[in-house]
Amino acid sequence: MSKRDYYEVLGVSRSASQEEIKKAYRKLARQYHPDVNKDDPSAPEKFAEIAEAYDVLSDSQKRARYDQFGHQDPTQGGFGGGGQGAGFGDFDFGGFGDIFDMFFGGSGARSRGPQRGQDLEYELEVDFEDAAFGVEEEIQIPRTETCSTCGGNGAKPGTQPRTCTVCNGTGEQQTVQSTPFGRMVNRRICSNCHGRGVIIEQPCPDCRGQGRKRVRRTVQIKVPAGVDNGTRLRVSGAGEASPNGGQPGDLHIVIRVRPHEIFEREGTNVYVDMPLTFVQAALGDEIDVPTLDGDVKLRIPEGTQSGTMFRLRGKGIPRLGSTVRGDQHVRVQVLTPTNLTERQKELFRELGKELGVQTHEQARSFMERMKDAFLGNA
Ligand SMILES: [Zn+2]
Ligand SMILES: [Zn+2]
Repeated sequence: MSKRDYYEVLGVSRSASQEEIKKAYRKLARQYHPDVNKDDPSAPEKFAEIAEAYDVLSDSQKRARYDQFGHQDPTQGGFGGGGQGAGFGDFDFGGFGDIFDMFFGGSGARSRGPQRGQDLEYELEVDFEDAAFGVEEEIQIPRTETCSTCGGNGAKPGTQPRTCTVCNGTGEQQTVQSTPFGRMVNRRICSNCHGRGVIIEQPCPDCRGQGRKRVRRTVQIKVPAGVDNGTRLRVSGAGEASPNGGQPGDLHIVIRVRPHEIFEREGTNVYVDMPLTFVQAALGDEIDVPTLDGDVKLRIPEGTQSGTMFRLRGKGIPRLGSTVRGDQHVRVQVLTPTNLTERQKELFRELGKELGVQTHEQARSFMERMKDAFLGNA
C-alpha cells in the first residue's frame, strides 16, 4: 500500500519554504502529540507520520531526493522508519471513516478537503550510455490541467459558480437512519450538482465548465546516472490536476534501457565479448577493448584459453546516486581459423606434429576432468 505524500501529511505546497514547513510541523505536532490525545488511538501513528515527513522535508538534501524519487529512494532503501508495526498509514482513512460513521453516527468532523490529483505513469526509453551517465530528456505527456481561462472554477470569466442549495456546497446528500447499532449515516453524491457543490450557469467556453482540460505538456526529465530497467523516478506535481483545487498528482517515470549492440549489463557491471585469433591467444597480445569511456588497452597473456574473463576495474556503470562504478568484464572467444589455404593447412599440420604430444595430453586431461564432473554430478 502507498504511503502518504509528505507534503500532504504536513499540508504544505511543494514549493513551501523551510519556514512554512517548520510552522506546519509545529502546529500539527502540537495537535497530534500523543500526550494530549490519550483518547485517540491513532494519534501515535499520526504523530510518527508527521515527524517522519518533517524529518525529510526539513533537510534540503533529503527533500531533493524525495522530490525526485518519492518514497522509493533507490539509494536509501526507502525513507523513514516504518517501524510502526502494522502501520496505520496503510489504511485508507476515507474508507475507515465511513465505517466509523456507520456505527457511531458520524460527528461530521471529518472534512472532505481538496483531493490530490491523480498520479501518472510514463515509460521512458533511454540509451544504454545515457542510463549509465545520465541524460536530460524532454517528454510529451497528455495530462489534465487546471483550466487557465477560468482558473479552474469552470465558470465563464466574469461570472461566478453558485453554491448548490441542495447540498449547501458539500457535494453530498446525507440520510440518517436509526438502527439498533446507533444512527447510520448514508452518504451519496448530490444529484443536483453531481458532487461538485456548485452550479455553473455560464460554463467557461475553454473547458466547457469542467475547470480542467486535457493538454499535451512538455516535461523535462533529469535522468540520473546509473538508472536501470524498472528504475522509477518521480517528478513532483507533474501529474493530473486536482478535481477540486488540491495539489496536483505526481508523474512517475519508469525507465527502460535500450539494449546495446555490444555491451551487456548486469547491475553495475558491463560484459563484452572480444574475439581473439588463434595466434593472439597462443602468443599473447595487447588488444583494444571498447568501454563506455572509449577504447582501453588490455594485455592478453600468452596461452589464453577461450572463455577467459578479464576485468577492467571501474569501467562499469555508476551506482545510482553515487560516483562508484562497477567493472567491465571482457570474455575472450578464440576464433578457430576457417577457409585455410593449402599452405596454411600444411603449416598447421606441421605445427600439430610439433605440438603433438603436448596438445593431446592437454585434450586428454581436459576430457578426464569433464568425465569426473559428470560422474560427480550423477
Ligand atoms: Zn475553464
Ligand atoms: Zn449539490
